[in-house]
Amino acid sequence: MKTIVAALAASLWLGLMAGGAVAEDSEDDILAAAMAFAMHDAAFTMYHEIGHMLVGELELPVLGKEEDAVDALATIWLLEFDESEDSYDALIDAADGWYFNAVNSTGSGVDEFSYYSDHSLDIQRAYAMVCMMVGKDADIFGDTADAYEIDPDQQENCSDIYDQTFTSWMRLLEPHLTGEDEISDIEVIYEDAGDYEEYAEALKQYGIMEYAAGTVAASFALPGPVTFRATQCGEANAFYDPSESEVIYCYEMAEHMVYMYLYDIMGWGDTAN
Ligand SMILES: [Zn+2]
Repeated sequence: MKTIVAALAASLWLGLMAGGAVAEDSEDDILAAAMAFAMHDAAFTMYHEIGHMLVGELELPVLGKEEDAVDALATIWLLEFDESEDSYDALIDAADGWYFNAVNSTGSGVDEFSYYSDHSLDIQRAYAMVCMMVGKDADIFGDTADAYEIDPDQQENCSDIYDQTFTSWMRLLEPHLTGEDEISDIEVIYEDAGDYEEYAEALKQYGIMEYAAGTVAASFALPGPVTFRATQCGEANAFYDPSESEVIYCYEMAEHMVYMYLYDIMGWGDTAN
């Protein structure tokens, strides 16, 4: 039986290698950086939904909130199975995405938070991710954890949290690793993107869905065929549909993240009138 690491190391990280655009002064550069931010988030989002898919298809037990568990798996995936700079950027951008979602929602008052929901609060999701990241690699993510004002004692605790979470997930997944020359059936489908064509093109260019499909199919013996589908949903979302064994990424989600980058992070709305 091959390890997940070996299975994943055999694949190339096609997706995020294309990212890494740096924001400079020109509008084109900022737009490219916004798209890179959205695609980094898309990679994390895909692995989050793939986590739901693995729980569903492999009938894995889950202790605690499944949402938190699959956030952890997505974080582990990007930390362990690809250590290029871009997968780390994907994690930082995804955490920042939750952070800015939270900042936006605080404007409407804390009373409007839902304290009991499937997901933890966005701000908790951001901190949980950063804790896992600094727990895995304090040298690389120490600055990020400092920026999130996670104090040094807590950063040390994060190392234990990370180790326990990693070990737990690996123990659950190990019985489901593929055998020699075994590959699961995962098809990637892009539905008509309509007004969202530029996001569909970016997804294809970054190869996020194809890369995820390839690595997951090579790593896990799934009981039946699975589809990864990019489509218009009428809302910025992504989800796993257990009845169809599908992971769905909505083009609207990429647009949402581009707008977040432009208006909340770059502050375009503050200057344009
Ligand atoms: Zn979820």
